[in-house]
Amino acid sequence: MNPAPPLWRQIQRQNFHRLTDLADFLRLSPDQRARLHHHSAFAFSLPRRIAQKMAKKTLNDPLIRQFVPLIDESIPAADFCPDPVNDLAFRRHAKLLHKYHGRVLILTSSACAMHCRFCFRQNFPYETQNQDFSSELDQIRNDPRMEEVILSGGDPLSLSNESLGKLFFQLAAIPHVKRIRIHSRFPIGIPERIDEGLLSIFAKHPQQVIFVLHINHVAELDSDILHALRHLQQLGIPLLSQSVLLNGVNDDEMTLRILYSALINAGIIPYYLHLLDRVDGSTHFEVSAARGRQLIQDLRNHLPGYAVPRLVQEIAGQPSKTLM
Ligand code: SF4
Repeated sequence: MNPAPPLWRQIQRQNFHRLTDLADFLRLSPDQRARLHHHSAFAFSLPRRIAQKMAKKTLNDPLIRQFVPLIDESIPAADFCPDPVNDLAFRRHAKLLHKYHGRVLILTSSACAMHCRFCFRQNFPYETQNQDFSSELDQIRNDPRMEEVILSGGDPLSLSNESLGKLFFQLAAIPHVKRIRIHSRFPIGIPERIDEGLLSIFAKHPQQVIFVLHINHVAELDSDILHALRHLQQLGIPLLSQSVLLNGVNDDEMTLRILYSALINAGIIPYYLHLLDRVDGSTHFEVSAARGRQLIQDLRNHLPGYAVPRLVQEIAGQPSKTLM
């Protein structure tokens, strides 16, 4: 008999996948239902925890805007494209991107806990046939410049503890790798993912582990999530956050101030505030760089310096993120 899947997998299987089910849950009117986009190429997937935090009988909600496909996605725009950061040009192996000096990124999984409608990697042709990283690890092993390995995707916490444990074990055997950075949004949707098995992988890992969480609005947080993240902090894992500046979600000073205050109160340091990567279907999310700069200036007038992230944009071919 197969063992029962871990709790987080069982919770993930309860995600909303049908927009009509969510529309019923949110008690949307016929006019509001008519604004849902049922034929998006980027599938709809939403943890129940996030749905429960959404406002009812409206589409004007920061969580609905982030996670629910609206017909605004079908607006074409000349400057928007399938791969706005040119990931494909930096693909060194099926699951390996190399863009920046000393750092290399493993595309660990195509899966996420939720699907963010503005995701710049939503069209990426992931290798999904297997969870074998031998070729990618060979490349890292043979390049002593690679001091930091970023686990991204998709979301690396979509992998089972067995797969992640194996990957961490293999990385630990590469002497020039000093840091493992995990880019994840999983705990925002399913904090149960930070379970004992995952913590024990990190606890015994010899290289420095760093977590970068993707959080855009304080409504994404709750006490269960902060409690789960506290377990990571107790292992000495620094927690950073990155956000995307999104029209109608977090493009006002008070919303960002509340978010960053909540994060630093939880010991999570705001790292980057990204301007939108112009992926097809995301025109309705765009906020100008000038507006972003004004917001950062306003935040500086109210928060300590360490609570104000750097406003950046990824410009393909540049040696780092570009400060705006
Ligand atoms: S969690 Fe990250 S990778 Fe996954 S859909 Fe959202 S932005 Fe994209």
